[in-house]
Amino acid sequence: MSAVLIVGAGPVGAVCALALQQQGIAAQVVEAQPEDARADSRTLALSHGSRLILDRLGVWDRLEDATPITRIHISQRGAFGVARLSADEVKVPALGYVLPYAALTAALKQALADAAIAVDYGVAVERIEPGAEMASLHAADGSARAAPLVVVADGGRGEAAPKPRFERDYDQMAVVCEVQTELPHANQAYERFTPEGPAALLPKGDRYALVWTASREAAERIAQLPDAEFLVALARHFGGRQGRFLSADPRKTFPLKLAWTGSEAADRVVRIGNAAQTLHPVAGQGFNIGLRDAWELASLCGDTQNESIQRGDTPASEIGSAAMLAAYARGRRADVLGGVGFTDFLVRVFSNDLAPLRHARGLGLLALEVLPPLKRFVARRMIFGARG
Ligand SMILES: Cc1cc2nc3c(=O)[nH]c(=O)nc-3n(C[C@H](O)[C@H](O)[C@H](O)COP(=O)(O)OP(=O)(O)OC[C@H]3O[C@@H](n4cnc5c(N)ncnc54)[C@H](O)[C@@H]3O)c2cc1C
Repeated sequence: MSAVLIVGAGPVGAVCALALQQQGIAAQVVEAQPEDARADSRTLALSHGSRLILDRLGVWDRLEDATPITRIHISQRGAFGVARLSADEVKVPALGYVLPYAALTAALKQALADAAIAVDYGVAVERIEPGAEMASLHAADGSARAAPLVVVADGGRGEAAPKPRFERDYDQMAVVCEVQTELPHANQAYERFTPEGPAALLPKGDRYALVWTASREAAERIAQLPDAEFLVALARHFGGRQGRFLSADPRKTFPLKLAWTGSEAADRVVRIGNAAQTLHPVAGQGFNIGLRDAWELASLCGDTQNESIQRGDTPASEIGSAAMLAAYARGRRADVLGGVGFTDFLVRVFSNDLAPLRHARGLGLLALEVLPPLKRFVARRMIFGARG
């Protein structure tokens, strides 16, 4: 029997399983999708801190499609204030990396297979039963599994998802696609705040990945514009820093909300990644917090096991105990709530056209531009989370 059962072989569940194995703890993963399922076309922005985690797990070297971001240009439309962050200033090789979700999940799937970590593909968990000594998983195919710790990394989409403790519907949707600009990106990303919502251009391969947020109604309309009209609207929205917008892929939309459920679930059950918090994509915080969840949980399991061995206890019994899960929740609180608060602040303070706030934002961006310590603080917060 494995000491840990993980629901979901998405990036967070897979990283957790690999990190647990490095701690000498056997994990078994249960994934609803079949083994040969193709991942969707979303784009991920990884922080430098996430790269370090993937490095330590031997996954980074398997990724060929990651595009480094060496500079970020932050501005607001129709008002003063520009801030520029660069990797050199923070003394890291890149502020972050852009890569297809499909490339990351494929590399992780291979890493799980190479590490001989058991993954039950095509098994959808329907019910999770907490317990004092063991928690059990009950799947749609009638099978059941039990372990001292169940880690829920199902992206918050599972049947057993509890109601979030805090939710905010931004009434915004993201329009996403890849675009070609006249000028090469030179590894520079753009974050542009507008009263309708933030928009980002992320260097991806030799093109840009666009994330354009707007009200639901506007986003539906923008996504359906014919190519030529879409490119004109995009140029109006972003300005001409990258020259003209030459072409765009078909557009997709997805709804944006904040949902904070927290890691605390019940006896011997813990939630991590998007199952614990779903964030607006502005500033690319959600995914990176999820990877830190996985890493920190595995480290704590390792420490718990070592302490148990030193005391001469049965190692597995302390993994998933109430004391361990409380320590995990305490340890993650500052990073998670910091990311939730920072993201929520950016969306709400920047997505409006009130004159006093417009000026305050301009001053904030100016301060970020001219005060190197503030710049380093913000960059390190985005790269490493609360420990930055
Ligand atoms: C369109 C889109 C664009 C995004 N862009 C960005 C971005 O640019 N930057 C960023 O940082 N974040 C972005 N995000 C968020 C990012 O995708 C998530 O933070 C990340 O995928 C979370 O990883 P996860 O492993 O927690 O969940 P997921 O990636 O959702 O993985 C969950 C896994 O659990 C499995 N599963 C679900 N239910 C069950 C069940 N009942 N039983 C067994 N298995 C189950 C699923 O099949 C899946 O494999 C985006 C999200 C979306 C939807």
